[in-house]
Amino acid sequence: MSSVETIIQSIYVVAAVLFIVGLKRMSSPTTARTGIIWAGVGMLMATVATFFYPGIENFLLIATAIFLGTVIAGYTAKKVEMTEMPEMIALYNGMGGGAAAAIAAVELFKDHHLPLSVTTLALIGGIIGSISFTGSLVAFGKLQGMIKGTFRFKGQHQINILLLLGSIALSVLVVTGFDSNATLVTAIFIIALILGIAMTMPIGGGDMAVVISLYNALTGLAVGFEGYVLQNYSMIIAGTVVGAAGTLLTQLMAKAMNKTLVSVLFPFGEASQTSGDAVEGEMKPIEAGDAGIMMAFAQKVIIIPGYGMAVAQAQQKVWELSQLLIERGVDVKFAIHPVAGRMPGHMNVLLAEAGVPYELIFDEDEINQEFKSCDVALVIGANDVVNPIARTDPSSEIYGMPILDADYASNVIVVKRGQGTGFSGIENILFFLDNTRMLYGDGKAVATDLVNSIKEL
Ligand code: NAP
Repeated sequence: MSSVETIIQSIYVVAAVLFIVGLKRMSSPTTARTGIIWAGVGMLMATVATFFYPGIENFLLIATAIFLGTVIAGYTAKKVEMTEMPEMIALYNGMGGGAAAAIAAVELFKDHHLPLSVTTLALIGGIIGSISFTGSLVAFGKLQGMIKGTFRFKGQHQINILLLLGSIALSVLVVTGFDSNATLVTAIFIIALILGIAMTMPIGGGDMAVVISLYNALTGLAVGFEGYVLQNYSMIIAGTVVGAAGTLLTQLMAKAMNKTLVSVLFPFGEASQTSGDAVEGEMKPIEAGDAGIMMAFAQKVIIIPGYGMAVAQAQQKVWELSQLLIERGVDVKFAIHPVAGRMPGHMNVLLAEAGVPYELIFDEDEINQEFKSCDVALVIGANDVVNPIARTDPSSEIYGMPILDADYASNVIVVKRGQGTGFSGIENILFFLDNTRMLYGDGKAVATDLVNSIKEL
């Protein structure tokens, strides 16, 4: 290794350390912003160092690609709404998988006399990257509503398993040197690309988030494998870290929805949806003035934010409301479900942004036993995460998902615009209970009305 290469590899190691420190800092809302900067500096160092690698050509082409990528990513990241984050993650993650697959393809087509370990890892990374590429694009299409439905048919999973086995069998032929012609390598990539589409098409509803997280982990792994192929330490470390973090996140999300990864990846039957007709009782409305009085004279109020609070951008007003209640001596707490909103930590980020102190924010397992002693549960823009049907109806799509036990509170006030269902499309039996009152309107407008009604007391 020349001295230039040694310096570059050392910079890669420093960059990898910055990625890890950045990731660690991203685990808390207070340090997350600087964590992103640390990781970004690491990425910049690794990119710049690569330009000095001996034998690098096509500087203009590389610089043009980086420029275009930076402009497009910078523009879209600034424009994207918080509520559209999962779509953006799916799309960019797919690009990462595609890039890893492209590296594998270049190496495999360029040189047929690669060492055994390099050929093996290039192929594994190429297959995983290709699956992640097309799978993430389908996930993006589904979240955007461009692809509707769940496309399930008998024998589908067997076909998918055959496709996977086929790509592995062809890879064995290439690795063992039995046959390594370009057509065979092309076939492996095409099968993997088809597999990504075929695996993702039958998945729908709340499971989409778990799948996106899984593809994120797979992209990380693919990048790690291709890092080995290129002998690039920062790619190996960054890819492995993303792979490990993505795997943990996938497990956490699946657990929060009481699903196994197998049940998410191999769904059976049509996605069931409980219709409103099946629910007994009626929704009873309440005015903001009455809801304000109810909360102002309560001893304990638990606020449950959900996706609708993010849409309405009501977090500041909700915090203002909470402060008024706290000043009146009310015990106010926030209850956060792990899959509330549209991305992990969505509600935590919004509440942190509004200045809600962390000691007032509780996870589902910390707060659930408190609902029984709670006078008012204020559900603002949440739906699926408080649907008691998850406890009672085994035929429901969300059956078994741990929920926030808002229905155990003495009174429940639900803020939403109308009769809209949640992400899963299932009717919510909480809204029909005797102790529930519906406070209709946009989350921010209603929170403002509540603030005004309490100020007038
Ligand atoms: P949800 O079930 O999607 O329900 C959101 C509710 O907000 C809707 O009932 C809607 O009713 C109301 N709403 C929308 N805009 C509003 C506004 N401007 N003002 C007031 N209300 C508004 O939300 P959730 O309870 O947070 O549950 C999250 C769901 O998303 C789960 O099913 C979860 O599995 C899924 N998911 C989560 C993630 C994640 O990582 N967190 C990722 C993807 C999917 P109206 O239309 O009647 O107003």
